[in-house]
Amino acid sequence: MIHRKSKMAKANKKSADDASARERVRKIIARLDKEHPDAKLALNYTNPLELLIALILAAQSHDSLVDQVTPALFARYKTAKDYADAPREEIFEYVRRINFAGIKTGRIKSCCEELVKSFHGEVPRTLEELVTLPGVGRKTANIVLGNAFGIPGIGVDTHVMRLSQRLGLTTNTNPDKIEFDLTPIVPRQNQIRFCHLLQYHGRRICVAKKPRCPMCVINDLCPYPDKTTELKPAKPKPKVR
Ligand code: SF4
Repeated sequence: MIHRKSKMAKANKKSADDASARERVRKIIARLDKEHPDAKLALNYTNPLELLIALILAAQSHDSLVDQVTPALFARYKTAKDYADAPREEIFEYVRRINFAGIKTGRIKSCCEELVKSFHGEVPRTLEELVTLPGVGRKTANIVLGNAFGIPGIGVDTHVMRLSQRLGLTTNTNPDKIEFDLTPIVPRQNQIRFCHLLQYHGRRICVAKKPRCPMCVINDLCPYPDKTTELKPAKPKPKVR
């Protein structure tokens, strides 16, 4: 009986914590939306396959560099079958300037071969199917679903991870666990936008090394214990994802 009561008390506390986190998230989104009205996915793409390929290339690489190589790549290969049929060395030549070009070429080939084999060459529209593709984890799958198909989800990249930790929305460090923490407290209709806003805020203000806390519009909503009190000179606004 005592055990049951303690379980109920824990459940009630979690529900109250979630409600308060949801209210804070609502305010965070409203303020960041005004601060970064231009927030969007920075990678250039015109269809789900191009987005998937760009995301594979973007792992541990600058989006701006990915955007430099993809125009020629996308002009040469239009379909998953094109990539699947192409010699690996030929694809490599298009992406050689990107970090880990050899590994990423292999991922693109395997991913497109699987698309041809199991999905008629089309990018699937469910997370369960997307994560069966070689080189595609929950982060990439959620970003594809959100940005190519408008299906809500939270893709936890480095910025979403860092900011949600600093904002006290999660205590986890594993991206999948962070996604599960954020999903119930970020309104479903705002989940794609929420990620874009954290990415922009993370590049412009809440940067990794010395966050620019004095100029942060969500400072009063943030419990981060190591806030800065002095400003470093601001850098020009970068192109971000
Ligand atoms: S107050 Fe500082 S740590 Fe908190 S979100 Fe703003 S910039 Fe980041």
